[in-house]
Amino acid sequence: MNNMDIFVGGQWQQGRGPEMQSRFPGDNQVIATLNSASLEDVEDAVIAADMAWRMPSWRNLPAHQRAAILYKVSRLIDENCEALTQLQTLDNGKPWAEARGLVMSAAATARYFAAVCEVSGGELPPRRQPELMTISTYQPIGVIAAITPWNSPIASDMQKIAPAIAAGNAVILKPAEATPLISLKLAELFEQAGLPSGLLSVLPGKGSIVGDALVRHPLVKKISFTGGTNTGRQLAHIAADKLITTSLELGGKSPTIVLSDADLDIAAHGVCYGIFSSMGQACIAGSRLFVAKDIYSSFMEKLTQLTRNLIIGDPRQERVHLGPLISPSHRDSVRNYVEQAVQQGGKIRIGGTAPADPVLQDGNYFLPTIIEGLNNQSTVCQEEIFGPVLVVMPFDDEDDLIQQANDSVYGLAAGIWTKDYTRAFKLADALDVGTVWVNTYKVFSISTPFGGFKESGIGREKGLESLKAYMQQKSLFLALNPQPNRWCE
Ligand code: ADP
Repeated sequence: MNNMDIFVGGQWQQGRGPEMQSRFPGDNQVIATLNSASLEDVEDAVIAADMAWRMPSWRNLPAHQRAAILYKVSRLIDENCEALTQLQTLDNGKPWAEARGLVMSAAATARYFAAVCEVSGGELPPRRQPELMTISTYQPIGVIAAITPWNSPIASDMQKIAPAIAAGNAVILKPAEATPLISLKLAELFEQAGLPSGLLSVLPGKGSIVGDALVRHPLVKKISFTGGTNTGRQLAHIAADKLITTSLELGGKSPTIVLSDADLDIAAHGVCYGIFSSMGQACIAGSRLFVAKDIYSSFMEKLTQLTRNLIIGDPRQERVHLGPLISPSHRDSVRNYVEQAVQQGGKIRIGGTAPADPVLQDGNYFLPTIIEGLNNQSTVCQEEIFGPVLVVMPFDDEDDLIQQANDSVYGLAAGIWTKDYTRAFKLADALDVGTVWVNTYKVFSISTPFGGFKESGIGREKGLESLKAYMQQKSLFLALNPQPNRWCE
């Protein structure tokens, strides 16, 4: 794919910024070349978006007709599932089955927000004076900047576009540099579904240039961001200066806990999936593992065996569990973390290097890695690696366990493996995280809110209430028996 167009204010056109490339992480070959958006493209997209969401034909469109567009998008995604899966795998190297799951989840997200917007209404607060009625309504915010990362692009894009459009806004999507293709394809499907021109733009390009210009634009009234905590913090500063709202879905260093009474087989499978699926390139990856001392060695034997059996290879092939990391520089970063762990006294139980298989030499592959012998203060327990690296620590005291599990700047998710649900509830209650999985891990539901505590984020995506994150509330006071106000006499 050469010189692909980008989507600016309803027009497919060449970006006016510098050339950029998308590469297949399995061999680093270029799969698409395009020109990124320029600052003029940002300006054009924002102006078009601001006009589009204010158009009476959109402002006055009943919710069920906005929903109809999203239902259509959902159908188009289903119909194009194979092609979208292929594109997603090429763009970011996710194994086929995972990429397919993301595509289906994007379709489900569009359907869900279509349904939510059809049934969401305002409120009639209880009357406190007999002569006064109040009504609370919800209106769109305006132009939304949606900024997404490369690790699950189609799902992250849709989690922002669908509620924003359902709520009556316009959206400008800035996808990650590494993965522009699926976002542009999504724009095509929205256009095909009949979304009025200007309501969606997709502006590929550098975060520090295109993303920065977008969020600083005075007509952008909300930032919806998924990505690293440092970037999120920068965006929050910009939003604070502009006095606009943000939704920030940021990093994680999630603890998973295996209690003595857990079904070790179920736990080992879940822990293995929780850290190594998506090559650990997931904000919710279960990257710190606490295992009860009395079952430590038997559990670790199982986990190591499962890890050894994982198939690493070309993500386009069926039955591959682990594909490549997103880029050579990201693989270097993962390798550096592993080296640092060893310098700090960590012992590699398995993995720790790139695979030796000559077939995989051109890609950014890295073996699933388990490290033991460190404590929770070590760098690899405190910093997000975003790779297939699990650090394991034994525990014997539950209070100490809770203290260690919570000893992190992050608070995104946690996993608990036990047959005792009373213990699980107590532990879940004590963990400072936004999502707790019990006897399962890394499963999602679009109807269940998701987001982080602490530096893992602000706000929640998914769930009924998340539509309102893209709306502003307006209150109406209606006098039922109007009388002159005698104050000024
Ligand atoms: P990751 O480590 O997952 O790449 P980043 O936070 O760097 O996380 O990137 C997530 C998204 O944020 C990407 O689309 C990236 O281009 C964008 N981004 C990065 N820096 C900025 C910035 N200063 N302003 C706006 N967007 C940015």
